[in-house]
Amino acid sequence: FVSRLEQGDTDQSALKHMIEEVILDTRKVEQSSSELTQQLEKAKQEGNELRRQMEEAEREATRDVLTGLYNRKYLNKAIQLLHNHYKEEGAPFTVIMMDIDYFKKINDKFGHKVGDSVLEFIGKTITGSVKGRDIPARYGGEEFIILLPGTASEGGCTLAESLRKQISSKTLKVTKTQTTIGVVYVSLGVAEIREDDTVDTVVDRADKALYLAKRSGRNRVMTEKDLSAEPESARETPSAA
Ligand code: GH3
Ligand code: MG
Ligand code: MG
Repeated sequence: FVSRLEQGDTDQSALKHMIEEVILDTRKVEQSSSELTQQLEKAKQEGNELRRQMEEAEREATRDVLTGLYNRKYLNKAIQLLHNHYKEEGAPFTVIMMDIDYFKKINDKFGHKVGDSVLEFIGKTITGSVKGRDIPARYGGEEFIILLPGTASEGGCTLAESLRKQISSKTLKVTKTQTTIGVVYVSLGVAEIREDDTVDTVVDRADKALYLAKRSGRNRVMTEKDLSAEPESARETPSAA
């Protein structure tokens, strides 16, 4: 256009034609630019959707479906990292292990589905009680582990006792049928990481403290300190009630 103007090609109809061409070109540019904006917007949305799906997949891979707590796989990794951190920086951590008392009876009496809803209730209670860095996990069927980074045994006992109280303070009901399940109790064991520990030995002490709580009458918290106070002969795995 400019070059044609410079060439002196400026009679009226030619000028009109050139202006029309320019207008047409401008429209084309506008249109393709709005198409480009649309394409960009679409790509952005697809990107967001992809990220959402990835986050969901990541969440699914690390969580227990029923309770929403972390799964065993995630727990294993997390405790290994905490142990490394302890070895490198001396950062302490505490393990709480929790097991529902006489859970088999609940299943037998009310069925597996009601048992599942009890597990959900326990999961919610735990989720509502832990803070920021804490790692609450479903360890197995009706067993839970909570890892408490930067926390000593005393802090672990406080949380364990608070959980025990919260759980045992409610009479559970099946909402749909209004069937009363009753009060559900839990036993808990607490152990803090120490110098000579591996990942397995600290979990094992929490487990032993938990079984001491079971042997001592259930619905209670025991720590590794209670273990050392107990005579060696009493430390056998209790038989099922
Ligand atoms: P204790 O006080 O000694 O812990 O007794 P308990 O009955 O709780 O322990 P036991 O190990 O005898 O039974 C555990 C029960 O937990 C048996 C099993 O059917 C049930 N259970 C494990 N996983 C699930 C689950 O995902 N859903 C349901 N509903 N029940 C489960
Ligand atoms: Mg158990
Ligand atoms: Mg149990």
